[in-house]
Amino acid sequence: MCSGRVDMAFVLRALEQGADGVVIGGCKLGECHYVTEGNYHALNTAHLLKKLLERAGVNPDRLRVEWISSSEGVRFAQIMNDFAAEIREMGPRGEGDGLEEEELQSRLAEIRNLVPYIKIAKREKLALRFDTEEEYEDLYTTEEVDEIFTGLPSYYIDPEKCQGCMICGRKCPVDGIVGGKNLIHVIDQETCIKCGTCFEACPEKFDAIRPIRGEPVPDPIPEEERTLVRAGKSAG
Ligand code: SF4
Ligand code: SF4
Repeated sequence: MCSGRVDMAFVLRALEQGADGVVIGGCKLGECHYVTEGNYHALNTAHLLKKLLERAGVNPDRLRVEWISSSEGVRFAQIMNDFAAEIREMGPRGEGDGLEEEELQSRLAEIRNLVPYIKIAKREKLALRFDTEEEYEDLYTTEEVDEIFTGLPSYYIDPEKCQGCMICGRKCPVDGIVGGKNLIHVIDQETCIKCGTCFEACPEKFDAIRPIRGEPVPDPIPEEERTLVRAGKSAG
C-alpha cells in the first residue's frame, strides 16, 4: 500500500490496540513511480499526527516515517532494530508516557474521532508539498493544534426540546444519531464527527441541538425515558 494511503486513524488504532510504536515506510522522496507522490502526503500527515500525539501527552517519537527503497534490506533491518531500541527506552505506550491505560485510550480515541473533521478542515494544508522534510516542521503551529482540540464543539440534543422529527438523524453523514419516530434523539458522541449538520438541520421552531465547548457533554437521557409523551397522550 502506498504510504500516502496510511490514514491517521490507522496509526491511532494500532496504538490503541497495543502497539508501542508505528513506522510508516515509504519510497524515497522524489522517487515515486506515479504522479501521485503519496510519500509527500504521508510525510505531511505524519507531521500533523505527531503534533496531535504530543498535544495528547503521547511521545510523538512513537511514530516514525522512513524512506526505504525495495533493495535496501539491510537498511530496513537497521531502521527497525534502531526503532525497537528507541521504543524499549521509552517504555510501553501509556506507562512510558505517564498515562494510565484508560486515560491513554480516551486520548487516542479523542484524536481518532477528530480525524474526519481534521481531514476536511486541514485539507488544503495536508495537500501542500515541499521539496525538503525540514519545510514540514513548522507547518502546523501549536496554536493551530490546540484549536483542533478546543475550537471544535461537540453537539448535544436537549431532551426537553427534541420533538423526534427525525430530520437530524436522516442528515447525519455517519449515522451518529440514535432515535426514531416519537423518540427523543441522542447523539452517539463516539461516532459523531462534529460536522454540525444536525445543528443546522434541526428546525428553528424546535431549536433542540446546541454546540458545547469547553465543558463535558451531558450524559444521554436513559433509553427507557426517550419516548415522547405528546399532550393528551400517555407514554403507554
Ligand atoms: S455533528 Fe454531524 S456527525 Fe455529529 S451527530 Fe450531528 S450530523 Fe452527525
Ligand atoms: S431535528 Fe431536532 S427536533 Fe428533530 S429529532 Fe433531531 S434534535 Fe429532535
